[in-house]
Amino acid sequence: MTIKVTLIPGDGIGPEVSTAAQNVITASGAPIEWEVVQAGEATIAQYGNPLPDHVIETVRRNKVALKGPITTPVGKGFRSVNVSLRKQLQLYANVRHLRNLPNVDSRYQGVDIVVVRENTEDLYAGIEHMVGQNAAESIKIITREASERIGRYAFELARREGRKKVTIGHKANILKLSDGLFLESIRSVARDYPEIECEDRIVDALCMNLVQIPEQFDILVLPNLYGDIISDLVAGLVGGLGVAPGANIGESGAVFEAAHGSAPQIAGKNLANPLAMILSGVEMLKYLGYDKEAERVEKGVERVLGQRDYITPDLGGSAGTQEMAAAIIDAMA
Ligand code: NAD
Repeated sequence: MTIKVTLIPGDGIGPEVSTAAQNVITASGAPIEWEVVQAGEATIAQYGNPLPDHVIETVRRNKVALKGPITTPVGKGFRSVNVSLRKQLQLYANVRHLRNLPNVDSRYQGVDIVVVRENTEDLYAGIEHMVGQNAAESIKIITREASERIGRYAFELARREGRKKVTIGHKANILKLSDGLFLESIRSVARDYPEIECEDRIVDALCMNLVQIPEQFDILVLPNLYGDIISDLVAGLVGGLGVAPGANIGESGAVFEAAHGSAPQIAGKNLANPLAMILSGVEMLKYLGYDKEAERVEKGVERVLGQRDYITPDLGGSAGTQEMAAAIIDAMA
């Protein structure tokens, strides 16, 4: 039986890294049929909208999508496609598996952290207004329901992956009501998982601890804004955005995407590192239950990184995007 997956190539380097990921995932043997739809700059030109309804509809229908980065036009009144997709499909968990890879430069070794970020509320609920001419107010929304839901996601992930500890990041010492509710809600969920250690850190101290001894952390669970910042910080601990995969998971669907943006400066030059997109595809394979195929891709990636013959310039090599993908396919056998 084939599984239909929506592929959104995206803008800038998106089409290059999407093609690379599509080829690698197909070569893994997973029976995936791709439904390719455009969003972003291409559809602004055609439909006047970066996220036309038919794109949302295909993701709703197929329930799983692999998405390239999309440029957010500055000051043109379009809402970020990424934020709209997350909202419309209720993709409440943003999840990044971040670990050191062979020969990927980093100041640290032994990092293997999953950042679980609440994706629907907090200051990103987008409720803000001017108060007169010279003041602005943005409202931070935290609910028990969304906090428990993300907490449960983090603990279920820990159980599924055999991970040992969940650390809750917050600022409940100052934001006693909102972050206090986030902390209390997740602590109450933790009682259902006695085999998994639950601890919490104030988010500023968490930043310091992460750059001092990152190996002490396993799963981090955070509200939206801190999660946004910390997930890039942890990507930096393992070699940067070029190697950071991501996933947005909801109750009835999931969109997998690299953490990086559309990198317009290098678009069309065959310079983009396809790894983050390929590793997002690996997360997708695991989500779909294709664990053997996911492992095959991971092995191919590790071999290519280990040999260093076919790696992109950002990793210190001179291979092009598609050349690196082809080498991963060869190494998967
Ligand atoms: P960016 O991630 O596109 O680029 C940051 C730096 O990293 C640049 O130097 C770029 O060349 C480099 N880089 C990024 N990905 C790379 C890759 N795969 N291989 C090699 N080098 C890579 O971030 P930005 O410049 O802040 O954003 C550019 C555009 O992307 C903006 O319009 C932004 O809104 C959008 N964006 C989209 C997403 C998304 O769709 N998920 C995420 C972030 C940014």
